[in-house]
Amino acid sequence: AADISKISSGQVIIDLRSIVKELVENSIDALSTKISINFVNYGVDSITVQDNGKGIEREDFEGLCLRNHTSKLTEFEDLTELDTLGFRGEALNSICALADNVTVTTRTKDASPIIYTLRFDKLGRLVDQSKKRVGMSNPSGTIVSIDSLFKQFPVRYKNFIKNSKREFHKAVSFITNYVLIHPAIKFELSNTNNGKKNTLLSSRGGESNSVIDNLISIYGTTNNTNLLQIELEINKDVQITGHISSYSFGLGRSTQDRQFLYVNKRPVVFKKLVKMINEVYKLFNHVQYPVFILDLKINPNCIDVNVLPDKTSVLIHDEDRILELIREQMVDFYQTKDE
Ligand code: ADP
Ligand code: MG
Repeated sequence: AADISKISSGQVIIDLRSIVKELVENSIDALSTKISINFVNYGVDSITVQDNGKGIEREDFEGLCLRNHTSKLTEFEDLTELDTLGFRGEALNSICALADNVTVTTRTKDASPIIYTLRFDKLGRLVDQSKKRVGMSNPSGTIVSIDSLFKQFPVRYKNFIKNSKREFHKAVSFITNYVLIHPAIKFELSNTNNGKKNTLLSSRGGESNSVIDNLISIYGTTNNTNLLQIELEINKDVQITGHISSYSFGLGRSTQDRQFLYVNKRPVVFKKLVKMINEVYKLFNHVQYPVFILDLKINPNCIDVNVLPDKTSVLIHDEDRILELIREQMVDFYQTKDE
């Protein structure tokens, strides 16, 4: 039988970045095509994530923010077939414990055009529920709003206020991972200070948008002819797609801030691969860092699923072959460019 507590968490929700990540992942899991993220006062006052996804069913209201409540996993065995980003049902519960007020507004796509607003206490219990009838044309979706993060923890709050801009930028750069790899989703990220809204990140969205178009439009580079396109089938369980730049793409960079690596569209850390790419790049380009975006599509059976969701490391079968094949392609590409 299902025993969710068996799944080791390893993933602690402690900072602004992980909170926003969880909310955005929930919106992606809800099959949204538009996700808007707004911070007020860099997240100190509030964080709101609005999506146009499938909404939340009434039968889920009561348990929504309770520990281990999830609509995404029914059997422990299902883990190998998991295609959602979340599955533990821990995120909303943890977030409730850290905030002064968590409000969820939602509408499903069914026939009755009713918008529900739910409020949860620190233990994740539903404490207030109201509904409003709206026009049939109102879109479905969910708005999750979090007020006064950390306010009840004086020391942490003081620190959060002191470092709010830094924490905010950490969150924005992490969310960029999701924006890039989901080109069909229209993302908008903004911060409001003293009533003035400032948009920091926005993507076009739509089915015709591609990962590389997304990358180019977000970083304002128009030259995509100097990109190595990677399309590798390592074996039946592992495929790799993506792009690695040559020197002329937005010029070489002195930092690794535009290197994006995923497993099944989840941002991951895979140090060995990054190190190899940087070394080969430097050898041929005489400047330090390439821009790259690579997604490793791996059969979940071949990954340690307990390791993956904390996003600190991945265990992948056939690792050396993956490295070797990417290296070969890079060497080929840079050599022909030099001729
Ligand atoms: P998990 O994502 O692991 O299931 P969460 O605590 O993140 O757990 O969310 C709990 C549940 O709340 C989800 O399983 C989902 O049913 C529902 N939910 C949360 N956010 C959204 C959203 N934006 N749209 C639709 N459903 C949502
Ligand atoms: Mg989740």
